[in-house]
This record gives sequence, C-alpha cells and structure tokens, in this order.
Amino acid sequence: MKIANKSVTAEKLVRDALDKAKHFADYNIFTFLNEENAIKKAREIDAKIARGEKVGRLAGVPYALKDNFLSPEGETTASAHILEGFTSPITATSVAKLEAEGAIMIGRTNMDAFAHGSSTENSYFGPTLNAHDRERVAGGSSGGSAVAVALDIVEFATGTDTGGSIRQPASFNGVYGIKPTYGCISRYGVVAMASSTDCIGFFAKTPDDMNLLMEVASGQDPKDMTTLPDYYGEKHSDMDLKSARIGIIKDFDNDSVDKEIRDALKTKCELLKSKGHEIVELEMPALKYALAAYYIIVPAEVASNLSRYDGVRYGFRSANSDDLDSLYFNTRSEGFMPENKRRIMIGNFVLSSGFYDAYFLKAAKARTLIVKEYEKAFLECDYILTPVSPNPAFKLGEKVNDPVAMYLEDVMSVSLNLAGVPGLAIPAGKTKAGLPIGLQIVGPRRSDHNLIEFSKELI
Ligand code: GLN
Repeated sequence: MKIANKSVTAEKLVRDALDKAKHFADYNIFTFLNEENAIKKAREIDAKIARGEKVGRLAGVPYALKDNFLSPEGETTASAHILEGFTSPITATSVAKLEAEGAIMIGRTNMDAFAHGSSTENSYFGPTLNAHDRERVAGGSSGGSAVAVALDIVEFATGTDTGGSIRQPASFNGVYGIKPTYGCISRYGVVAMASSTDCIGFFAKTPDDMNLLMEVASGQDPKDMTTLPDYYGEKHSDMDLKSARIGIIKDFDNDSVDKEIRDALKTKCELLKSKGHEIVELEMPALKYALAAYYIIVPAEVASNLSRYDGVRYGFRSANSDDLDSLYFNTRSEGFMPENKRRIMIGNFVLSSGFYDAYFLKAAKARTLIVKEYEKAFLECDYILTPVSPNPAFKLGEKVNDPVAMYLEDVMSVSLNLAGVPGLAIPAGKTKAGLPIGLQIVGPRRSDHNLIEFSKELI
C-alpha cells in the first residue's frame, strides 16, 4: 500500500481518497466523511516527515471504518436509527492502534443495522451497491467497507465478522477479507452483536497488506478479557508452506452451490497440486448443524446485547412517550430495523424457560460437535479450502423480504465463528457475467499468520 514519505504527502493520499469517495457517492458507501480531521492529521504527519521524525508503519494511509467502531470522529450509528445522534466518548482499541501507526480514517462505512444481515440492505441509510454491478448487493454486513476497498477509494477498511460479515462482502466484491481467530484483536469499543462469535478484521488488496494490518491491530488488551495473549507472527507450526495438505469438504460440492464457484474451487485445487501440495477430502457431517445452531445462539446473544438501547442512554429517543415504559417501547419500536426486532424476538424465545432446553441448549451442544469436527479435520490437513457463500452477489431486493433465504447465504461461513477458527476470503476469479468469486482458507486457531502467507500460493 502507498504510505506517505518524502515523495508523496499524506495530504495528497487523503485528499485523493476523499475525492474518490465523493466521486462514488451514489454507491452509498459512507455514512460520514471525516474531511476536516483527516486533512488535519495528514498535515501533522507531513510536518513530521519534513522534520525528519520517525512516522508509523501506516503513515498517511487512508482507511474506512465500519460504522460499528467507536471513536469520537463522527457519530457511531451501526447504521441503525436508534443510535443516530450518538457520538462516542471513547476510541476502540483497534482504531487507536491503527491511528498510532499513522493510518487516517476518511469515513465511516454503511452496514446492515447492528451487523444483522448479508447484503447491507438492512441499513437505516439504504443499501450499498456492489462494486462490480450496481444492480447487485454489496454483501454484508460490512458492505460499505468491502466496496470502499474494491473501488480503490481506500487502501484498507475495518470490518466485523460474527458469521461471515467480512468474508462474504469481500468475496462479493473481489478483495481479501480476514476473520481472525476469536480473541486475536481486541473488541473494546466495538458495538457488540454476539459476544461469543464477534471478531474484528480487515478488507485489503494484498496478503502483505493484510499481514501488516494484523500485526498492528492484534494483541492482548486489558480492556477486553476475551483477547488472547499475543501470538500473531509466531509460526503456528513448523509446517512447510511448500507442501501443505489442503482439506476439501465433500458435502459442499453439491447442486445448491453455484457451478462456477465449485469450478473455481477445483481450478485452485489443480493449481495447489501443481505447486506440490496435497488435496485431502474431508467428511465433516457436523457442519450441517452450523447454520441452525448459529441462528439460535446468535439471536440469543443479540437479544441480550441490544437490551441496552432504551432511549435513555444512547442516540435516538422517541418523542411520543408519556411514561418510562412507553419511552422504552416507542424508542425500540421506532429505532430498530425489522431484522433487529426479528432477532430480539427469536433470541428471547430460544432463551425462554419453556424452550431453553429444546433450542439454546441443543444449539450449544451442536456447537461443541462443530468445534471437535474442526479439531479432527486439522489432524488430517493443514488448511481447508471452501467457497465463502453458495452464490456470487445477488440482485438488490432479491432476498431482503425472505429472511430464511438471506440466512442461507451464511451456510458456509458461520461454522468458523462457532468454532473460533480463522478464515481468509481470497479473490478467485470471476463468473462469466463478471461477478467476483471468493473462496476461504480456514486454519486452526492461531494460524492466522500462516494462513495469510499460504494464500500467496493461491495467486
Ligand atoms: N449474515 C450473518 C448474520 O446476519 C453474519 C453477520 C455478521 O457477521 N455480522 O448473522
């Protein structure tokens, strides 16, 4: 990526990014442009360079911030009406780390409200358009971030991935997207969706850029007790990157997955074989429970995490209330999107005393099976290669009124979140119609660094 130095100023990098953001305004990528602050910060970096002072590893690099990361720059709304007007007094640890290295946020990106969705159509601010076909969805929930990178507006963008929200939009727009190991990057200062699966990650254009971002952002944080002790950069094993065993999941090779995506996977397998890697066929029958388990566990956690938005503490408050109960009721009724409400209802239902055993407890047991299935698979192979989603980007409006069709988008992404393992979405060519195809490389926990290095074998 282009970093400010003696020959290119940070101010130029930032102004170019802001100009491009405005040029692509009709894609509805940004919910906020950080013009004044970004230019001010760029000038500070340029002044340091002129004085010969040391600058960070991301000096002057313009980036886009998904709108669920807290920072005092612009309102943090998570693209939800209920958070409109909320300016955070704190800065997310990940944002602070990026900025400490000199990265400059030029804008906040559109997303499905509270990250609930796979198309960015659940945003209060309207959908983001796909970078390759304006009639199609950007994917979601981090749609704005993926398109900002795909259209070359910024060098990188942040995202969150609870069930696929980085990998799927990355694959729909033809860029790299990482969902790290659970606990790799601090979530302090990021709007919580489902605390047992939420991960922070990035969209980038190359594996080397991705590696640098991971180095900067990862690490233990006393403000997030779920972060792992620093491990990034350590080799996960002594595995030779030149002769890896790559697992392919047999059950994913079926007619419900687009033929061009399955062909792209086969082409990559041939490429890997020609480079001396071995392809191993895996049976992972427990993965068929992943989607159902995810859509019980995640709404349960969502119902809990969204209970704090009551019109008293953050953002929007309904004007039509005469007592406390109606204030809560009206604020939540008017402030949440339909998909947010659906998840709150499902979550409270699966946790209710009459249904807890039948739904939540069963889903938790299925999750354990999935964790074990991955552990077993990684005895047989080093990495697993799968599609990210069953189809390339679909048409705007095609699935937004059919929640089950939308949930099925996540059938190949959610098991990683349930198991806590890392996955890197990589561009893998295009369909005949010109839509990007994405594949994901999955590794054991803490293999993030090797995963990124290994992805170079697939170029
Ligand atoms: N599409 C998935 C969902 O709606 C994933 C969302 C996410 O990763 N934030 O739950």
